[in-house]
Amino acid sequence: MSQMRVDQSQCILCGQCVEACPFAGVVLGEESIEFTDSCRLCSICVKACPTGAIWLEKTALEPSLDLQEYQGVLVFAEQRQGEIAPVTYELIGKGLEMAKQLGHEVAVCLAGLDVQSLGEKLLTYGVDKVYLYDYPELEYFRIEPYTAIIVDLVSRIKPNIILMGATPLGRSLAPRVAARLRTGLTADCTTLAVKDNGDLVQTRPAFGGDVMAQIVTPRHRPQMATVRYKVMPPAEVTQPHGKIVHCQAEPSQLQSKITIHGFRPHQVASSITDAEIIVAAGRGIGKPEGLELLENFASLIGGVVGTTRPLVEQGWASYNQQIGMSGRTVRPRLFIACGISGAVQLVAGMRGADTIFAINTDPDAPIFDVAHYGIVGDVYEIIPRLIQIIKEGGSLDEISQVG
Ligand SMILES: Cc1cc2nc3c(=O)[nH]c(=O)nc-3n(C[C@H](O)[C@H](O)[C@H](O)COP(=O)(O)OP(=O)(O)OC[C@H]3O[C@@H](n4cnc5c(N)ncnc54)[C@H](O)[C@@H]3O)c2cc1C
Repeated sequence: MSQMRVDQSQCILCGQCVEACPFAGVVLGEESIEFTDSCRLCSICVKACPTGAIWLEKTALEPSLDLQEYQGVLVFAEQRQGEIAPVTYELIGKGLEMAKQLGHEVAVCLAGLDVQSLGEKLLTYGVDKVYLYDYPELEYFRIEPYTAIIVDLVSRIKPNIILMGATPLGRSLAPRVAARLRTGLTADCTTLAVKDNGDLVQTRPAFGGDVMAQIVTPRHRPQMATVRYKVMPPAEVTQPHGKIVHCQAEPSQLQSKITIHGFRPHQVASSITDAEIIVAAGRGIGKPEGLELLENFASLIGGVVGTTRPLVEQGWASYNQQIGMSGRTVRPRLFIACGISGAVQLVAGMRGADTIFAINTDPDAPIFDVAHYGIVGDVYEIIPRLIQIIKEGGSLDEISQVG
């Protein structure tokens, strides 16, 4: 590993490096400066040092891998109680696109109990192989056996790219797999592209969404990414041509210290990520009680309530309701924006909605630039009128007269 070095005979303990370091990575010792665990090897101290006493010693790179040995895309198919997580189809879609560009294959790793039919279903999305691990020990997600079988599979098939959903399960599994494989992992990607040399360009928001970082892992394989749900179109069903490969796991690989005594599915509140209709509240609602009004409206039309970031920051809503660049990405059929200005960070998370309908008092609000339909008006007048019309079984014509 590279490390910072200091020539003690040159160091005059002036402290300029300590002052320049933004990470508290260097401190003044008794006889010389010392580098702490916070040092990021950024070399700002090298430039700050007036005597040239500091330098970054770069160690020779580890013997490089034969990158060409690693080919194809491996998608981890997340399933719970026989249901494939929808992000899996989106990963397959992206995997197929990238594999086609490189002339490689797309494989899926599927683990569980009695999951043969799920494997067959996955083949209908055009993948070349489904590696199937069908064991009682894999019925429920447990981190140790799931990690062990994926690592084992990867060491045998040597994929160039591994994709997992940025779901709670994927976020737990992917870092463990990456650590075992001693490779890089980019979490929470929103865009993926592959270069012709096989390098995966992984884009994700960084610094709270201020910048979109592009990350590559040019010297290691496989390249691993977790991907947000609903940021990529899913693969389409096609005539299957692939095959299922039944994989054997060693008893030692299936061991876990976690014992599951019965299983009760977790009743999650309706998630905005899966919702077909979202009534989204912005700062324009003015008071927390406004959310109750929107919840009544949402339940009447079979939707759920999401919010912009200011409402989460004010403690009116929870983070898992936040839509946008630093929140969730949503793609509902109908998105009703109530008192939302339409900042770019919000729009980044909802522009995929089929139909966007905005209610805002300001006719120049940017939300109207992305909305398909809009009403210039007060949420507290428009929503109660819509509720009334719907309760009275009003027609679309009546609704379109509102505002
Ligand atoms: C790094 C970074 C990341 C961010 N990530 C996110 C994110 O993920 N999600 C997010 O939402 N924001 C995010 N933001 C914040 C974003 O920039 C905006 O500040 C935020 O989206 C504004 O929220 P808003 O539209 O609710 O509020 P405002 O911009 O204050 O808009 C309120 C709107 O309500 C209208 N209004 C007022 N009263 C009424 C009424 N009675 N009826 C109808 N309309 C009314 C006003 O005309 C106005 O247009 C981020 C910002 C940064 C810097």
